[in-house]
Amino acid sequence: RGEVTAGGIAIDHLDFEYLPGRRVLHDIDLKIAPGSFYGIVGHTGSGKSTLLSLLLRFYPARPGAIRLDGTPVEAIAEGHFRARVGLVPQEPFLLAASARENIAMGRPLDQQQIETAARAAHAHDFIVALEQGYDTPLGEGGARLSVGQKQLLAIARALAGQPRILFLDEATSHIDSETEQVVQRALAALRGQVTIVAIAHRLSTVREADRIVVLNQGRIAEAGRHGEL
Ligand code: ATP
Ligand code: MG
Repeated sequence: RGEVTAGGIAIDHLDFEYLPGRRVLHDIDLKIAPGSFYGIVGHTGSGKSTLLSLLLRFYPARPGAIRLDGTPVEAIAEGHFRARVGLVPQEPFLLAASARENIAMGRPLDQQQIETAARAAHAHDFIVALEQGYDTPLGEGGARLSVGQKQLLAIARALAGQPRILFLDEATSHIDSETEQVVQRALAALRGQVTIVAIAHRLSTVREADRIVVLNQGRIAEAGRHGEL
């Protein structure tokens, strides 16, 4: 069985329909180099979450249509897949526990591993500014954190598992530009270390991406850097 080592993604002429005759993705063809930062944007209903769901194997794609480091996703062992592919969901689930426990999520990680992940996610500074640092209880659902801080914490949680690929579904279409910039800077700084595919509602959210793919009614309408679109 193949392994995900570098984090390259190849999508080969992918079509997808949830219901017979109602195709929602048309001929998606993409090659994402290991360590690069890709943004996916498009109007509501354009297929962004569907594409992410297929990359995450929530739904089966045509066999061989999606490959990670050359291996068809469906041929990767579940445990290995979960260890190598991280997800920062739209609404991260936060425990009513400390920052540390929210990053570790039951995994046996020492303080150094937790801090390394938090620093990489740009979450370390706001965590140490809390009155008990990493031991500060975050409250029910992370009640005492801002939307941006929750997302950074979720990025730290994903990075603590040392994934090769990180998928990110942008928090909400209503995030403020301050939050947008904080998350943006964190993602841009991870370039080269992990492959990032980030879904965004606005082009500005993925300004720093190496390449932005614009979906329109399930098709790639255009692709390029921020200034080119
Ligand atoms: P948004 O920006 O609102 O999150 P999106 O780009 O993520 O939109 P998708 O959720 O991928 O869009 O939806 C693409 C199309 O697939 C839409 O027409 C949607 O109605 C349809 N769709 C999504 N999920 C399902 C499902 N589980 N069953 C059937 N159709 C679905
Ligand atoms: Mg969506």
